[in-house]
Amino acid sequence: MNIYKLKTSETNYKILSSEGFEMATKKLPPYYEKQEKHELHFAVCPACNNPVQIIGLNKKLQHTDHPYAKHYHKSIRGLAPFDKEAFESCSLVHPRTNLSKSNRKPVCTEREKQILSNLQENFDQVAYLFQLYSGIVMTKSLAEEMLKWYVAEQGHLYKGASLINAPWVFVYLSKAQSLWGRIIKDPELQEALCKKVPTGLINERKQFISKGSEKIFFWFAGHKQSKTSDNFLKETMQFIVTCDDEDIYKKTITFDYEHFQNLLNTPDEKRPRRENFTELAKKYLG
Ligand SMILES: [Zn+2]
Repeated sequence: MNIYKLKTSETNYKILSSEGFEMATKKLPPYYEKQEKHELHFAVCPACNNPVQIIGLNKKLQHTDHPYAKHYHKSIRGLAPFDKEAFESCSLVHPRTNLSKSNRKPVCTEREKQILSNLQENFDQVAYLFQLYSGIVMTKSLAEEMLKWYVAEQGHLYKGASLINAPWVFVYLSKAQSLWGRIIKDPELQEALCKKVPTGLINERKQFISKGSEKIFFWFAGHKQSKTSDNFLKETMQFIVTCDDEDIYKKTITFDYEHFQNLLNTPDEKRPRRENFTELAKKYLG
């Protein structure tokens, strides 16, 4: 993998590069350790909080130009303990191809608690990302509905949930939500709604309304994990709009970890912070 973080408690992670790693760690222990005659380099896996070893930091590797991080199967004092169970369920090593929405982990460990705190602290960014990939404006009442559902479903224990995919898993586990009266920003979705819902229209406020009795709702399905050709994790889910029994719009959403990280790394004044959203999340997840 090509990502790492410096502490188990961190939400943010970094893209691995030799210069970046040196700057971030200042070449200090526990990231730089001498073992016999060798200097070894360590960090933390952003998805499972286990130690990782950085390979090829100072020496060019034969099979790749870039250093990479590999799970390390022993605890590193002052950095991270090795947790076999977390390693075995780490999506960066073992992407799950057979995820079921109803699968839950039997126990809540520190990692699952961290999923909840990350989601809560960054909930305004989660709401912002939702608007971008769905084209639907996230209102406070919609957020509240989805939060209630996430809590009832124990979303943090879902087997496909990790420390890096909270913004997507959060909506994935929600029940279907009505589209009536919602502000639709995505022109493609606007067009589908106008064409395929017999009495559907988008009003001057860009709200979707219909005069008939059709039930129109959106939902998410088919969360999948796989490995990319460069050995990184790829996660997708389907965004579906249904009118009565017919699916009238469908698109694949690829989890964009980098975008979420960029939002977290942007200073507060330069990103769309909405404290009422994080306050709302605190009420349910705090
Ligand atoms: Zn891991």
